[in-house]
Amino acid sequence: MPDKTVKTHCCFCGQQCGVQLKVKENTIVGIEPWYEFPFNRGMLCPKGVKRYLQQAHPDRLLHAYEKDSSSRSGFRKLAYDTAIARVAEAIERIQREHGPNAFALLSGASLTTEKTYLMGKFAHMCLRTSNIDYNSRLCMVSAAAGNKKAFGIDRAANPWSDILSTDVILVAGANVAECAPITTNYIWQAREHGAKIIVVDPRITPLARTCDLFLPIKPGRDAALFNGILQLMIENDWLDHDFIEQHTVGFDALAGLVREWTPRRTAEVTGIAEKTIRQAAELWGTAKKSFLLHARGIEHHSHGVQNVLSTINIVLASGRIGKPGSGYATITGQANGQGGREHGQKCDQLPGGRDLGNAEHRAYVAGVWGMNPDDLPQPGVDAYELMRKAHSGEIRGLLSICFNPVVSLPTTISCGPRSRSSIFSSPSISS
Ligand code: SF4
Repeated sequence: MPDKTVKTHCCFCGQQCGVQLKVKENTIVGIEPWYEFPFNRGMLCPKGVKRYLQQAHPDRLLHAYEKDSSSRSGFRKLAYDTAIARVAEAIERIQREHGPNAFALLSGASLTTEKTYLMGKFAHMCLRTSNIDYNSRLCMVSAAAGNKKAFGIDRAANPWSDILSTDVILVAGANVAECAPITTNYIWQAREHGAKIIVVDPRITPLARTCDLFLPIKPGRDAALFNGILQLMIENDWLDHDFIEQHTVGFDALAGLVREWTPRRTAEVTGIAEKTIRQAAELWGTAKKSFLLHARGIEHHSHGVQNVLSTINIVLASGRIGKPGSGYATITGQANGQGGREHGQKCDQLPGGRDLGNAEHRAYVAGVWGMNPDDLPQPGVDAYELMRKAHSGEIRGLLSICFNPVVSLPTTISCGPRSRSSIFSSPSISS
């Protein structure tokens, strides 16, 4: 029998389903559904059901380690006090010899919001280094940048409950059933009420198998498709002129830009049949209520921001956003993908989505931290550039927490003069 149950969230993915942990003698021994939690109402996916097993798993790392070539594993245990003292000494020495920016941090979106705040504060206030970035750089940061450009804020525009009452759901580059399973239930509930489902994906995902219209796009051609859909919306006047007039800028220029994206050209570039593109544009264009969801499939590209903006264009042209049952969202991947980037561990941000390059924002945060704004470092570079700087010798030490650069940045981590840098890492807590 457990001593108690603790209400919390499944920390595996960005859905953050509610769950109750069964705890005995300070160890998690099982889970109970949390039926009252509004998002998932007691449901969990297979990942969430098993997530609690990690806490007491025998493979879990519970100690600090240092390299030891004489040991069979290549490592030996180290007391945490000793490890922390060695890291602190190395940071002090590297910064004294090479300046504050010679030390860098890679942080992670599986950390809680409070910890991401601390990582940013540690970098900017304590170490005074510009060089901190985080692993959503390789995840949904294109969505963040696209949202900021389009809406002025990097924030979800709608609650998930709007999906339930919508008429048309367009899912682009998101394997919802496998990566955000509880959202599948929202989509299916909408379908129960008659909603049509359009899926854009190079792969026949589980959702694609059951959707009303599947657009099997060639990888990397997303902006072309959405430009083609917008062109058909313009041609057929499936537009909300009042909304465009009152809430957008630059529509005429955009209309000029997408004129060349005729159905034929869009079909040639995307590999999708012209007829299917026309069907998708009509379903989307004539809907009374609609919801567009996308994820890493359109964001993980060198032109991911343009892909995101092209989806936002068809949402804004329809005027179906900020209304019940209508909207737009990017599906968060890692547990704290959204909160993790808002609190100062992104290379150009301060807590609360404030900008490191904005004098007013700098003054505000410096006031909270009790420091001179001039002592805050300037915006740094992204994680990819940060690794280049490590290999060029500009960065001499790196602290990595909940970021797995060997997997996520293999080409940058495996080349270059590693001997010049010290790398300290901490195991991921939830992935
Ligand atoms: S959908 Fe995500 S948050 Fe919900 S149970 Fe599954 S892994 Fe956990």
